[in-house]
Amino acid sequence: MAIDPNDWRLRGQERYLQARSWSRRKYVAPHADRDHDHCAFCWIKFMETPAADVLDEGYVTEDGAHWVCPTCFEDFRERFGWSAP
Ligand SMILES: [Zn+2]
Repeated sequence: MAIDPNDWRLRGQERYLQARSWSRRKYVAPHADRDHDHCAFCWIKFMETPAADVLDEGYVTEDGAHWVCPTCFEDFRERFGWSAP
């Protein structure tokens, strides 16, 4: 399915997320002082402990810097040329 170029989730992510490769993983907090991340597109929260409106699993870039939820991953993988094993 083609994504509307005006989709509200698009905010210039192609500058840093074009053609990245991703791994599907359980979310792990990167530092003791940072317990969550957000989907780079829809901004849903990732945390280690599941809760309402929180995901505990998603796709992460190889450097661990960016997370994307499974819904956005499927919606944007073609447009951004993403790969995932
Ligand atoms: Zn998302």
